[in-house]
Amino acid sequence: MIPKLGPVVAIDGPAGSGKSSATRRLCEALGFVHVDTGALYRAIALVTLEKMQARQSAAAAEQITEEDCAGEVARSAHLEFRRVEGKAPSNRIFANNRDVTEFIRSPEISMAASRVSAYPGVRAALLGLQRRLGCVGKSVLEGRDIGTVIFPDADVKFFLLASVDERAKRRLRELTDAAKKTGAQVPTYEELREQIETRDSGDSTRAIAPLKKAPDAIEVDTTRMTLDEVVEFMTQKVRERLG
Ligand code: C5P
Repeated sequence: MIPKLGPVVAIDGPAGSGKSSATRRLCEALGFVHVDTGALYRAIALVTLEKMQARQSAAAAEQITEEDCAGEVARSAHLEFRRVEGKAPSNRIFANNRDVTEFIRSPEISMAASRVSAYPGVRAALLGLQRRLGCVGKSVLEGRDIGTVIFPDADVKFFLLASVDERAKRRLRELTDAAKKTGAQVPTYEELREQIETRDSGDSTRAIAPLKKAPDAIEVDTTRMTLDEVVEFMTQKVRERLG
């Protein structure tokens, strides 16, 4: 295992529990680097879907399963986070030197990311990358298995939760705001609630690295908390732990 060169914070939790917004703000408060591991799975899902589509439309279609294709993509794709000032968000994800930040947040990619993340080949290929990104220290990694598998030796671990109703409401707000810029169609509240339940069940029951709270993680139920309250609580805990 690659040793840590500085403090690492692990934040896990289900879809819509407020991880991404809280992690972004926590990183700003602490001056730490944000590693959004969900974005890595989403980028793999996007490239896989594109490859599968290209293969299907090719005349001599070579048959390959989504699992084999995703494994091949995860092993060969070059994924990296780059800061691009003047763009929102400034922390961008590149797959094979292409900025895919705007393409990985659709409900279709959310569902595909949940599927590809259950493939053992994909998880194995992303394990080393996540550790390399985090081990430089002063980093916060957010995902599903950071405190249990990627950094069981993280200095501080959080597990964020929120009710399914609250998470569906948050997702609806996010997608409605994004649609004002992109014109994309927004799913209904009921559709989002169903997608969240499907992803929760897939993420928690898969054989490898299922979503689960590390025994030493601090649980934060964000259902009735504002983002400011969540960030303040977490910042204080990290400062206490790291001295
Ligand atoms: O966090 P986000 O919703 O962007 O993650 C997309 C999907 O990637 C999740 O539904 C989950 O299936 C998968 N994921 C994972 N392990 C991680 C991060 C994300 O399995 N560490």
